Amino acid sequence: MTEQSPALDNLLTESRTFPPSEAFSAQANATADFYAEADADREAFWAKQAERLHWETKWSQVLDWTTAPVAKWFVGGKLNVAYNCVDRHVDGGHGDQVAIHWVGEPGDNRDITYAQLKDEVSKAANAFESLGLTAGDRVAIQMPMVPEAIFAMLACARIGVLHSVVFGGFSPTALRSRVDDQAARIVITTDGQYRRGKAAPMKVNVDEALEGAESVEKVIVVRRTGEEVPITEGRDLWWHELVDGQSAEHAPQAFDSEHPLFILYTSGTTGKPKGILHTSGGYLTQAAYTHHNVFDHKAGEDVYWCTADIGWITGHTYIVYGPLANRTTQVVYEGTPNTPHEGRHWEIVQQHKVSIYYTAPTLIRTFMKWGNEIPEKYDLSSLRVLGSVGEPINPEAWIWYRENVGANSAPIVDTWWQTETGGIMISPLPGVTATKPGSAQKALPGISAKVVDDQGVEVGKGGGGYLVLDKPWPGMLRGIWGDEERFRDTYWSRFADQGYYFAGDGAKYDADGDIWLLGRVDDVMNVSGHRISTTEVESALVSHPTVAEAAVVGATDPTTGQGIVAFVILRGNAVDGGDAAVQELRNHVAKEIGPIAKPRQILVVQELPKTRSGKIMRRLLRDVAENRQVGDVTTLADSSVMDLISSGLKSGK
Ligand code: ATP
Ligand code: MG
Repeated sequence: MTEQSPALDNLLTESRTFPPSEAFSAQANATADFYAEADADREAFWAKQAERLHWETKWSQVLDWTTAPVAKWFVGGKLNVAYNCVDRHVDGGHGDQVAIHWVGEPGDNRDITYAQLKDEVSKAANAFESLGLTAGDRVAIQMPMVPEAIFAMLACARIGVLHSVVFGGFSPTALRSRVDDQAARIVITTDGQYRRGKAAPMKVNVDEALEGAESVEKVIVVRRTGEEVPITEGRDLWWHELVDGQSAEHAPQAFDSEHPLFILYTSGTTGKPKGILHTSGGYLTQAAYTHHNVFDHKAGEDVYWCTADIGWITGHTYIVYGPLANRTTQVVYEGTPNTPHEGRHWEIVQQHKVSIYYTAPTLIRTFMKWGNEIPEKYDLSSLRVLGSVGEPINPEAWIWYRENVGANSAPIVDTWWQTETGGIMISPLPGVTATKPGSAQKALPGISAKVVDDQGVEVGKGGGGYLVLDKPWPGMLRGIWGDEERFRDTYWSRFADQGYYFAGDGAKYDADGDIWLLGRVDDVMNVSGHRISTTEVESALVSHPTVAEAAVVGATDPTTGQGIVAFVILRGNAVDGGDAAVQELRNHVAKEIGPIAKPRQILVVQELPKTRSGKIMRRLLRDVAENRQVGDVTTLADSSVMDLISSGLKSGK
């Protein structure tokens, strides 16, 4: 590797650090020793973490990697995932503890204790069995954030059926392709869903999706909005008619540690969705271990809130499996953050005394855009740990989060992971790590990650390249449903000689050896031979006081190969998006990270195209920047955004 052409340039430096307070460290679940302990004997370390769970039969071998890249963890062990997340806590005398403070968008509430959760899950499991479902079958779930969605997932897990949750906002076509791919026997949905204060249809979309779908025998419908829906006789069943009358007794059967738990199609930021397959024992071990240590969760004391949708992996691992395995009391909120007003999240934090809050950078930047005065109005003093996931968090957004939400004291954990990894992989540990705004920092104890160059050789401090995972981990995907070749190609072929898992993300080490994630390698820009990450330019833009959000793409350029085109959303108080403002932003980037990164063009926009999990879809912006027909928009949260951007550009706004 030559000096002139690193795999990725390192442009942005950050010197602020925030060591943990002594008081926090003294009570923290994690300690600095974990790293050495895990390094000394990785398998023994994971075996110890697996002891957090109840195993009906103990494993005989921690890891079998002879079948790589398909791992077997806790070989020979048997457990029931739903028993671990529900019954175990009731048996342990905690049946009266609230598992879920459910908050509906229109203002309705439901508190569900662990004892009630056990009854609901058992009834649903009996109902599913009455329909003839057996272990290994697949059930597709397209529902908003209602408690029945969680009951349904756990009931599937309880009887060994694989669930596959599809975002509530996905189109009939997107649902259909996922149903067909896995040959789902049953689909569960609701009559409608609340979105931004209005009831929107759901069941009719499902009907449209399932026209002629051969694998589907039954559709179960949960009543939520109360609107009238067409019922197909012989196929459709109301949840309340099917489930409510069932017995609340259901004996959980133990399944093999490697029994499949679920399929989850990745959000499709970069193309055709992949059905990521996860199994039971290893996945649940990593979910519980990471939730306990990364969030410093204390059962029976904390009130936890993860704002993700259950249609995303974060909802699976950090609403359903990890928290419930750890006997968490959590908030589950159905709606959007600005319904009926922009302080909704803070109102909920105040009301339920939320102590751990886990959200995505996109939402943090949205809060910034709405203004500091909104969180200021609420009592957020219960918050003691803050988390971020989904995209690199820009340093300025991190600082805003710390100051305006975390009272300048709550540790922020920037957690890097993927649908494929099953659980958090790279993150600070609260109480242990001195945090740095914008960096996910270190692989967790028991996890190993490296930044390597094109040849797979680890780069040095200050060097940029590709993020790889060089050792197997318990929550790792076990394949892509029905497509083993794609599994090997996508993740294992890039660094086949070394046997590394290729994450598809760019990353760098800073001078201390901490890891910074720099966005997808597909998005890396090549400007006059410099390999520049979108993340660094976006972070430089967001560090300007007028900018709330930025998305950057490389567009073909006759002289430089690619030119940097930036799309920015201004903060609530910054109304002037004229030529002078744009010029100032271009100069600001040049000053922050160097003239090479100065955007060729900056366009002020009102919205950016995002997936339902809140990630910016840069490939669509690249289409706009290169004056092409905009590509596949089926996984966008709001497909009208692209029209808005294109028409705004044409009218010169
Ligand atoms: P697809 O793989 O279908 O394109 P996706 O990658 O958006 O979809 P996810 O598995 O939900 O689906 O997202 C994982 C990706 O999100 C990571 O590969 C990374 O690019 C990004 N990401 C998640 N957390 C972080 C983080 N803390 N810092 C930086 N990037 C993150
Ligand atoms: Mg991905």
